[in-house]
Amino acid sequence: MYCDNIQRYLRRHGLPRIDLKAVLIDMDGVLYDSMRNHTQAWYRTVSERGIACTPEEFYLYEGRTGASTINLFYQRELGREATEEEIREMYRRKSELFNALPKAEPMPGAADFLSCLRERGVRPVLVTGSGQDSLLEKLNRDYPGVFVPEYMVTAFDVKYGKPHPEPYLMGLQKAGVQPGEAVVVENAPLGVQAGTAAGLFTIGVNTGPLPDEVLLEAGADLLLHSMRELADRAGALCGELGAGTAVR
Ligand code: CA
Repeated sequence: MYCDNIQRYLRRHGLPRIDLKAVLIDMDGVLYDSMRNHTQAWYRTVSERGIACTPEEFYLYEGRTGASTINLFYQRELGREATEEEIREMYRRKSELFNALPKAEPMPGAADFLSCLRERGVRPVLVTGSGQDSLLEKLNRDYPGVFVPEYMVTAFDVKYGKPHPEPYLMGLQKAGVQPGEAVVVENAPLGVQAGTAAGLFTIGVNTGPLPDEVLLEAGADLLLHSMRELADRAGALCGELGAGTAVR
């Protein structure tokens, strides 16, 4: 089903095959339907400062660190960097607005995708730019027993945000695997860029309002439109990516 996509990736990276052992999974917009909340909180935070922005553009910046997002607007609209104080205050405000919104639900299909990985002995590794204190509790509530701290990369682990490959390189390191042994699941253009820059086969799952072209231009090796679709195709995909057969 996806032979052409896989062959193209292998040629580009000079690899003989993919031997799937781990899947490096982004969180917001992939495991949780949380991007509407993030964009709404960012839009209000930036607008409140009298800085011009549109709600949609925040989908393009998804994956950047908070400081880098704030600086983008200061540079663009005010022609200067934000001060440490401005960054601290705006990030505080963004978190406050985000936390006041109704909790984001797990993304439909994500749990089934993770079950499919488990049946085939493929290790899921979380790679997120989020640094919420209660991250592990939240994941354990919604995806019991799937994620453990040894196999998680969060905002606390990395220096650079996506699109820098660092978060995914660290994910590989934590999983103890090479680029030909892992794939990335991402919803955001900068996340897709980070995955491909780390040399990984990157599945773009377009769960937001951006056109598909944005994820394809970012370098997605394969494009799907929902986590449900990924879950439905996970068995076949794992087979083509060289994962073990299902053990129930
Ligand atoms: Ca994301």
